[in-house]
Amino acid sequence: MLVDFKEEQSLFYNEIVTSILTNNKISHAYLVESKGYDRTKELVISFVKFLLCSSRCIKSSDCSSICNLCNLIDNNTYSNLKIIEPDGLWIKKEQLENLKIDFKTKSIDESPRVYVIFEADKLNKTSANSILKFLEEPEDNIIAILVTNNRYNMLNTIVSRCQLITLSNNMDLDSKDFINFDDGLNFVMDYERNNIKLFAYLNNVFNIKSKSRDDYYQLLRIMEFLYDLTLKYKIGKEIDKNISYFDDIVYIANTNSINDIIRKMNVIEEQKARLQYNVNLSLLLDKFIIDLGGGVYSD
Ligand SMILES: [Zn+2]
Repeated sequence: MLVDFKEEQSLFYNEIVTSILTNNKISHAYLVESKGYDRTKELVISFVKFLLCSSRCIKSSDCSSICNLCNLIDNNTYSNLKIIEPDGLWIKKEQLENLKIDFKTKSIDESPRVYVIFEADKLNKTSANSILKFLEEPEDNIIAILVTNNRYNMLNTIVSRCQLITLSNNMDLDSKDFINFDDGLNFVMDYERNNIKLFAYLNNVFNIKSKSRDDYYQLLRIMEFLYDLTLKYKIGKEIDKNISYFDDIVYIANTNSINDIIRKMNVIEEQKARLQYNVNLSLLLDKFIIDLGGGVYSD
């Protein structure tokens, strides 16, 4: 059930699920970036049920036992749901052609249809082009869910046509992270108090020249941890009031909306992914500060 993921994937839950529940705004294509999260399949199927089941699988603690539709989804026998997984090494063009044929005829009751492509990074060139055409001409009542471990393994043209859902994995810090925890905390608080003005003395706060790629990655992990904790606090989840930085969390919570926090967490996620490919840490950090502030540089 989707609500099971409310705490473990609070970012996803608040951003996607809440927006659907409040605005009923469903995208025609989602890209789920799983980041190695081990319950991804379970989450995706719960999301499918949430999209397709009229009771939205949220009122009942166990929709499947009372709901025929969710039962069919569980058994993968629901005709309005197609699940595609790699056939061997790749997702073959024929698999997608079959999908198109299946979905060409309108569903009898006009109810929405969903196709899920697991390991979507295993689309080869022809099959990627085939799916691209499908995404470019979205049809009413057809929802695509593509799942990949890392969005950077996907064609940009595909990513840009989907609403991105990045799952969080391993939010808890390990002991190694705690060695530099105060540096990370100071950086976040300096940023929160000064925002873009932090630029002026960025080198004093975080002298990137003396830092390694690992240091920087760790800083991002600590930041992510702090914003995640703030989000939990803001949505009313109980957090430990005895932690030394509790007042800092309250400060961040009071100066940011839930959307601000979600946006910042997405920027941090992006930055973590960029770090794998980008060599110039200094440029990366500059861009990071601008993006955190919403992409506008002003005094
Ligand atoms: Zn149901």
